[in-house]
Amino acid sequence: AALYRIDGWGVPYFCINSAGDIAVRPYGTATLPHQEIDLMKVVRKASDPKFSGGLGLRLPLLVRFPDVLKHRLESLHSAFEFAIQSNGYSSRYQGVYPVKCNQDRYIVEDIVEFGSPFGFGLEAGSKAELLLAMNCLSKGSPEAFLICNGYKDEEYIALALIARSMDLNTVIVLEQEEELDLVVETSQRLGVRPVIGLRAKLRTKHSGHFGSTSGEKGKFGLTTAQILSVAHKLQRLAMLDCLQLLHFHIGSQIPSTALLSDGVGEAAQIYCELARLGASMRVIDIGGGLGIDYDGSHSSGSDMSVSYSLDEYAGAVVRAVKFACDRKQVRHPIICSESGRALVSHHSVLIFEAISSSTGKSQPLSSMAPNLAYFLDELADDARSEYHNLMAAAFRCEYETCALYADQLKRRCVDQFKEGILGLEHLAAVDALCDLVAKEIGAADPVKTYHVNLSLFTSMPDFWAIGQLFPIIPIHHLDQRPDVKGILSDLTCDSDGKVDRFIGGQSSLLLHELCGVPGAGGGYYLGMFLGGAYQEALGGLHNLFGGPSVVRVSHADGPHCFAVTLAVPGPSCADVLRAMQHEPEMMFDALKHRAEECAAGSGDALMFDALAHAFHSMPYLDYSTAAQAPGSSSDG
Ligand code: PLP
Repeated sequence: AALYRIDGWGVPYFCINSAGDIAVRPYGTATLPHQEIDLMKVVRKASDPKFSGGLGLRLPLLVRFPDVLKHRLESLHSAFEFAIQSNGYSSRYQGVYPVKCNQDRYIVEDIVEFGSPFGFGLEAGSKAELLLAMNCLSKGSPEAFLICNGYKDEEYIALALIARSMDLNTVIVLEQEEELDLVVETSQRLGVRPVIGLRAKLRTKHSGHFGSTSGEKGKFGLTTAQILSVAHKLQRLAMLDCLQLLHFHIGSQIPSTALLSDGVGEAAQIYCELARLGASMRVIDIGGGLGIDYDGSHSSGSDMSVSYSLDEYAGAVVRAVKFACDRKQVRHPIICSESGRALVSHHSVLIFEAISSSTGKSQPLSSMAPNLAYFLDELADDARSEYHNLMAAAFRCEYETCALYADQLKRRCVDQFKEGILGLEHLAAVDALCDLVAKEIGAADPVKTYHVNLSLFTSMPDFWAIGQLFPIIPIHHLDQRPDVKGILSDLTCDSDGKVDRFIGGQSSLLLHELCGVPGAGGGYYLGMFLGGAYQEALGGLHNLFGGPSVVRVSHADGPHCFAVTLAVPGPSCADVLRAMQHEPEMMFDALKHRAEECAAGSGDALMFDALAHAFHSMPYLDYSTAAQAPGSSSDG
């Protein structure tokens, strides 16, 4: 557990069980040992048709745990409840889930259902998100907020007003001053009185990656002058009572409670000023930003971690709002947060398989010896003297000098190769010699490349796009010490399709030697954790690899203590082709026709079956037929 920092980022949902597998604790610390779900059993159940009730799904596999989602939601709510009670705060907390974090139907429906007892609502940032939020909230608590953020046109505002007329507790949050006129006109046209919020551009600046749009020059929200102008305009229109909410968002992954208190304190002052100007203020919406500890370091020094707990976050917010309101004798507002990352990150685990590994090294020196002797004759004088110097230094045990000569020898040989003087065998031999030298002097720790059946661009886009690190670890064999340093290389034909940075500042990950046969539960499985927020909607179709298969797994009584409540195979080749406007049915007919013409009747049925199968199956590798990845060694 210490090796992979599970005791940091994994608590309280992930641990290692007595079988050496990762176990999921669906109820956090309240989980009893017999309620822990063994992730390997989930993989077997999902992928192996021979496992009892096995589903035969192809990997990669996204496993969702609704119990974890429920636990996150309840933990967030009780952290605020506790802060409210212990600070003598006289209003309540009523959060919303920003659907942009993960719009998956079941996640949003779960959040509405689990949050219904405490009026938990939804936040939308676009028309499509608003439509889904309206539909989901229709089945939720009537007091739950429907917060409408984002840039708005008349259509968006009309939708929000329709939601209000349906008795959904809808607030239109002005992102720009110009939106006010549209809101006023549309509400008059539809005869629906709006509830209006405004997003303030705070001066408090979050300095991390996610804070680049915060501060005075930030992209979003209204300046002080614009806030005043909106308030005055509403007053002239006798609509100041419609202004009820103040919102701000200083960026995701707020690193410390000091910055948080600063931002909330500034916003609370604006809130109090609006109340003084006569607005019917009721709600302060502190946006998102509640961070999670991706690297388990519990520090505020990077975007990968935060230095506070849920309780500390809630305490800082409540104290900052109370302090400002008490000083100005303003009634304590309802505190709303739009925490997305902190709510959904933990609930899903992406599981993928390593299918082969390679060091990129040449053969060992012993097997290259005859070639070496042969290639010495071919070397130019300067390269040959580097070789002799290298050998002499090795004899004297001068290891640093060895490394120097090996480097020079290699460079000269590469030059000779480029000139066409040396052959491929010679270059391979010099590589082998240099690797051996490096290994002998301990200067190079060979790092193996593990080829994984995954597309980074689809399943962990933030790693590629913004350098976000996620905990990635093997989900089994954790009772055996891993001793191979590895990096991961995905299936795409793209040099960026590799994971060579890991939590804790590591440039490789300690992994086990590959053994077993890939596929159906017998291979080597890795999990990417804490990826439940943002990755799914941001992921693309690079190389036409689509999303993973998905299962929803809940705790249940029984021998395996879990039940799969939903299983969805990942998109097929036909699905991803369709997403790019191709027409798979017509493509199949055209290809079949051409095959008929060319094959002149022989073996048609077999070919047509294979063609149809290709359209219907997932684009990822199928191990029953996959060749080894290029450059793989025999340990795959
Ligand atoms: N609210 C707004 C307006 C946002 O822009 C975001 C995301 O950046 C969020 C909420 C969610 O933030 P987080 O995932 O950090 O909780």
